[in-house]
Amino acid sequence: MEEILLEVNNLRTVFDTEYGTVKAVDDISFTLRKGEVLGLVGESGCGKSVTNLSLLRLIPEPPGRISGGRILFKGKDLLVGDEEEVRLVRGGSIAMIFQDPMTSLNPLLKISLQIAEALQLHRGMGRKEALAKAAELLKAIGIPDAEARANDYPHQFSGGMRQRVMIAMAISCNPDILIADEPTTALDVTIQAQILELIKSLSGENTMSVIMITHDLGVVAGICDTICVMYAGKIVEKASVDDLFAQPLHPYTKGLLDSIPRIDAGSRKRLYSIPGSPPNLASLPPGCPFRPRCDKAMEICGREMPPETSLGDAPRSVRCWLYASGEGGLE
Ligand code: SF4
Repeated sequence: MEEILLEVNNLRTVFDTEYGTVKAVDDISFTLRKGEVLGLVGESGCGKSVTNLSLLRLIPEPPGRISGGRILFKGKDLLVGDEEEVRLVRGGSIAMIFQDPMTSLNPLLKISLQIAEALQLHRGMGRKEALAKAAELLKAIGIPDAEARANDYPHQFSGGMRQRVMIAMAISCNPDILIADEPTTALDVTIQAQILELIKSLSGENTMSVIMITHDLGVVAGICDTICVMYAGKIVEKASVDDLFAQPLHPYTKGLLDSIPRIDAGSRKRLYSIPGSPPNLASLPPGCPFRPRCDKAMEICGREMPPETSLGDAPRSVRCWLYASGEGGLE
């Protein structure tokens, strides 16, 4: 088994708001191995993006703050290093691509200069060498006529090509980990498939680990090795992709899977949608936060938060009273 690159233990990130302290990420733990593709999945506001901003210490403070836990990258806790140490990790060893490349690219700078800037900063290359490498990277990520297009500005590229440029910038420094936050949401399905294929192939070629954040379980099916399903700031189910799709355990995961359109379902079948909406994190109900939407809820679910229960080999675990030992759950 490959070595563990990243170990997140009991991470907590909160935001102080006028309505009280919001626990956006509440006591989550997971590991990422070399070459592994991990999916963080859940609806908007479940804490997946805050988790990843926390990994790079990019939480705006105030109102946010990381209130507990450890983030061990190659054994070193990123939460205790000074800002300069974390800045070197950011963009160098851990790189990130965002949902909307247009807001991440500088509209006034040529594409080649933007990629070269990262190479000069993190790999100490001279300007000429960095520009040549930038054109090489554009070619590697499938930009046609890469040398000429390197001199274009972002508005001259299509949405899919801009996302490819973001990927080129992210991988330019050979990161150990690529964090992709909803990288295909703004793209049509054909380009979406190409971008996912590109990320998957880069991960395989470079033994780069990937954390893929998405609200769409369909997106992670073909690319991830492991999936963490998040709800209301907690990881409610962790499993290998095969186990999760073959035998989802948590009622929320089952709801998410039932919400994916199926090609064999027939055109008259209504697509399932999970009733209700995600809870307000500033005023969570007692017990399990999924209870108001859960058709399996029991009396204990409204009283106590279910513990994380490990089932079989790691990473298989679930946070639901249906599987916990003791009252209401498995004996
Ligand atoms: Fe449903 Fe209870 Fe499980 Fe929560 S703990 S998901 S309410 S059965």
